[in-house]
Order: sequence, then C-alpha cells, then structure tokens
Amino acid sequence: MAKGTPGSSTKAQSSQLPRLKIPCPTCNGAIVVSSKVYACAGCDLKVWADVASKTLTPTQAEILLSKGKTGLLKGFKSKAGKSFDARLVLDKATGKVSFEFEKSR
Ligand SMILES: [Zn+2]
Repeated sequence: MAKGTPGSSTKAQSSQLPRLKIPCPTCNGAIVVSSKVYACAGCDLKVWADVASKTLTPTQAEILLSKGKTGLLKGFKSKAGKSFDARLVLDKATGKVSFEFEKSR
C-alpha cells in the first residue's frame, strides 16, 4: 500500500490555510486567508475578499490592514453594472471596508 495517500477528504484543513504576512491591526493575531474572507484568528476582524465584483488579492488585503487604506484600485463594479475606480478604506474599529473616491477638481 502506498504511504501518504490522502485517505480521508473529510479532515479539516483549517490549520493549513495560508496566512497574511502582516498581523491583525487590532489584536496582533494571524490573519487567515480563505477564498472568501481574510479573517483574524484572534478577534472578530474580517475583510471580505469579494468587494464590488472584484476580488482582493492577499497583497491588497495586507496593504489595507496594515495602512488602513489601499492605493487606487480599478475595475470595481457597482450594483447598477457601472465600473469605477476607488481606494478601499478600512475602519479598524468595526472591520468595515468602504470606498474612497478620487477627488476631482
Ligand atoms: Zn485580530
């Protein structure tokens, strides 16, 4: 019998999920990366990976969590189907992510 054959697919994989390189800004815990959400293992902070039809990369999530704001990201899509560019801003107290638009002058 071959050794190391994956026998059971029911085993939990939560311990093998990747983590972001930066710790949680609130509690310093590890931020666990899954396909849908970047969630802190130590507190309730979580950032959804899917924002307005765009998926945040781990790098973007790291910038958002460490600086509280991303650079200008392109290609968001509003509910009306209109695409737009915006920065993401994180409210560290609530974990809420909101948009910040370039000010046109
Ligand atoms: Zn935390």
